[in-house]
Amino acid sequence: MNQLPGHPHFAWHGDALHAEQVRLDALAQQYGTPLFVYSKASMLEALAAYQRGFAGRKVKICYAMKANSSLGVLQVFARAGCGFDIVSGGELERVLTAGAQPQDIIFSGVGKTRAEMQRALAVGIGCFNVESEAELEVLSAVASAAGKTAAVSIRVNPNVDPKTHPYISTGLKGNKFGVAHERTLATYQRAAALPGLKVVGIDCHIGSQITDTAPYLDAMDRILDLVEAIEGAGIALQHIDFGGGLGINYNGDQPPAADALWAQLFAKLDARGFGDRQFMIEPGRSLVGNAGACLTEVLYLKPGEQKNFCIIDAAMNDLPRPAMYQAYHAIVPLQRKDSAAETYDVVGPVCESGDWIGRDRALGVQAGDRLAVLSAGAYCMSMASNYNTRGRAAEVLVDGAQAHLIRERETAADQMRGEKLLPQ
Ligand SMILES: *Cc1c(COP(=O)(O)O)cnc(C)c1O
Repeated sequence: MNQLPGHPHFAWHGDALHAEQVRLDALAQQYGTPLFVYSKASMLEALAAYQRGFAGRKVKICYAMKANSSLGVLQVFARAGCGFDIVSGGELERVLTAGAQPQDIIFSGVGKTRAEMQRALAVGIGCFNVESEAELEVLSAVASAAGKTAAVSIRVNPNVDPKTHPYISTGLKGNKFGVAHERTLATYQRAAALPGLKVVGIDCHIGSQITDTAPYLDAMDRILDLVEAIEGAGIALQHIDFGGGLGINYNGDQPPAADALWAQLFAKLDARGFGDRQFMIEPGRSLVGNAGACLTEVLYLKPGEQKNFCIIDAAMNDLPRPAMYQAYHAIVPLQRKDSAAETYDVVGPVCESGDWIGRDRALGVQAGDRLAVLSAGAYCMSMASNYNTRGRAAEVLVDGAQAHLIRERETAADQMRGEKLLPQ
């Protein structure tokens, strides 16, 4: 057995790549490509790293489901006792369908609609993470009209630089997220005075794919300063929520392990006298990113003067991260062989030059060979689109020697459902 470094439970047995005990080329043969494959053991192992870091502490882990919101994936985390961080009414319906308890759901996002608030109050979610003073007023009105009390936490923008891609950094002054640090106390005082609201916590989320502990420690200091000020003003906080954002290894990145990060964070919390509080965290990518791969088939090789292209049957509609963030995904063959490698740009069939999956990759491949695009568990299927009227891929969840189809390949008819032809 030959483990893929950084991708737990993805390994070569002989020359065939496996997820747990299942051969990936057999899955590609059975279900076709592109095909997302997830390892349940890998997800649970990532969760266990957080749980180790929280041993003896009061912490609720709320999986940020926008990273991967497929029902089968949600079921794994619901059965493991996770709560969920949601960002839309659609995510609320999905996670309830997957078996989540409403009180284990927290609702983040800068643009919650009245209808979304009404539905979340009706089912009884645990907490609204409010992101602006205007939202606070609307939530108060909606809750009062419904005769309900909304539990609220206010998302603070701590103004720290997480040193990640600008599109996934969220805790800087110029970002749209959260309430400005200097407005926080006034916002809590307003929340405490409004009808229909009950202040329960404080939260922040500084960005995504963070590979350094320093921004977390800085943000924590700034949040704890605020907790002291808010409680000094007579407003009690039941929980402190540090958001998500821990990075994964895409291309030799070396983020801290979840338990190591939390050992450092708890050292600070203990030193400041907050160690026995109730905490929440909202990890997304770090729970699922390296638990998934996208299997794809080489359609054509197209040698060129400046570039050689390897054209595959997965595209930017399936794997949007390279086009959106210039992100790197490792690409490996499903079947290792000794053919000489050439350098290729690996691209999809979509009619955009931005439709590339990997640049300047050394691959020994022929048309008909199959590849795995790694680190595809987070922000791939959940961001997939139907651009070029391409159906979304199928998904399989591997559990030991078993493979469960958790999403069928989308057909053209599925895509046209709900559309209406004009009258004659
Ligand atoms: C996206 C998001 C998360 C999860 O971020 P990851 O980088 O995937 O861990 C957590 N909290 C909020 C509010 C988010 O928007």
